[in-house]
Amino acid sequence: MHFDEHDIIAAPATATGGAIAVIRVSGEGAVECCDHIFRGRTTLSSAKPYTVHYGEIIDGDRVLDDVLVTVFRAPHSYTGEDGVEISVHGSAYIVSEVLALLARHGARMAQPGEFSVRAFLAGKMDLSQAEAVADMIASSSRASHSLASTQMRGGYSSSLADIRTKLLNIVSLLELELDFSEEEVEFADRTQLAEMLKDATREVEQLCESFQLGNAIKEGVATAIIGEPNVGKSTLLNRLVGEERAMTSDIAGTTRDTIEAMCNIDGVVFRFIDTAGLHDTQDQLEQMGIERTHQAIEQAQIVVLMTDAESENNTEISDISKDKTLIRVVNKIDRYADSQRYRTSEISNDTIYISAKNGEGIDTLRQRLRAAIDTASVYAGETVVSNSRHYESLKRALEALSQAHTALNNNLSGELLSEELRDVLHHLGEITGEVTSQEILNNIFSKFCIGK
Ligand code: GDP
Repeated sequence: MHFDEHDIIAAPATATGGAIAVIRVSGEGAVECCDHIFRGRTTLSSAKPYTVHYGEIIDGDRVLDDVLVTVFRAPHSYTGEDGVEISVHGSAYIVSEVLALLARHGARMAQPGEFSVRAFLAGKMDLSQAEAVADMIASSSRASHSLASTQMRGGYSSSLADIRTKLLNIVSLLELELDFSEEEVEFADRTQLAEMLKDATREVEQLCESFQLGNAIKEGVATAIIGEPNVGKSTLLNRLVGEERAMTSDIAGTTRDTIEAMCNIDGVVFRFIDTAGLHDTQDQLEQMGIERTHQAIEQAQIVVLMTDAESENNTEISDISKDKTLIRVVNKIDRYADSQRYRTSEISNDTIYISAKNGEGIDTLRQRLRAAIDTASVYAGETVVSNSRHYESLKRALEALSQAHTALNNNLSGELLSEELRDVLHHLGEITGEVTSQEILNNIFSKFCIGK
């Protein structure tokens, strides 16, 4: 993909099926291009920017549609260029006809993400903000919207700018030293340098650590429901998700594969992974299912371990690491006339007693799930990393920081030290796009949809 910045680009900006469709046009000459197909009270080129005009889209004598047109002028537009947005009636036919007319008058179809590429190249936003535009559009819960919104408004950019400034100060001191190397002066006090490095490292570490939460919120919190066959895992999943997604049956081992389903609990999306039972078996297919169960535990952030109130069988699992939340659930309490005992005497803080079948205890389970995810920092607008590209760059920055530490501790030359620090700056710059390449841009923007 190659982005030619001098063309007039056009694309539908809305999905098909709505009452109205918006066609976006951008680039030098975009307004004049639209004048060829628009008939209104005034021409668009003579219109004041940021005004809306009623008129018709015409193709010679033929009137295609009644439209509203908004005019934008460089540099105060999304792309930083002259631009037009045409609202037509939401017919796929009208949209394609308007695009064909525009093409006849010098516009070309935009590539995926090309409007945002232009906004980035015009300095309207940095790379992390452009990526947040895509996240914003994809957001499906309060928490993922909040993450994207903070990032889009530049939260990330300012956290990184702080760290970069600190590092740049160190580098410039070190490089000043190099200029005076004949005189063997030390402008940069090494103890102070070590402190500054430690500071920057801590901040980058914090950003790295926030990825676990950010990623879970963006992708859905991976939650594995595990337990022996027939304890009611699929029934619970159906109850939580509210639709017949998982297959339930009385034959032990029916759930042979893992099934994923999403649901939103108080602003956070959970991604449930239903798994095959945990038990010894000779059946090869089931054994594959058990292997998957272990994989599901591995992937999961929350593990719901389910047992059956009847069997009193306490499944123990060994491979749950400390960073995962384990929730014990005892199911089928409805089978007991004296099920009251589960709600009173035997209630421990760790175990939740439910009936997946009639819904008892499900609200408590939902609350426990939700409490495992602390969204306070996200809602407070703190910088929480949710993009794996950023996370990779941060990890590389941390490695370079640790090498800089080593260089400093071993009294290596200022030249080497400043090289390491330049490396750190490079990786941080990849996130916001100070350092970029056509390849990175292609990679990011090709995943955008057309018109974004
Ligand atoms: P899985 O193998 O763990 O996924 O178990 P299923 O969800 O397929 O359930 C196995 C059987 O237990 C089905 O017949 C369900 O209807 C039944 N079952 C599940 N939950 C409950 C419950 O809370 N109470 C009762 N009485 N039966 C249940």
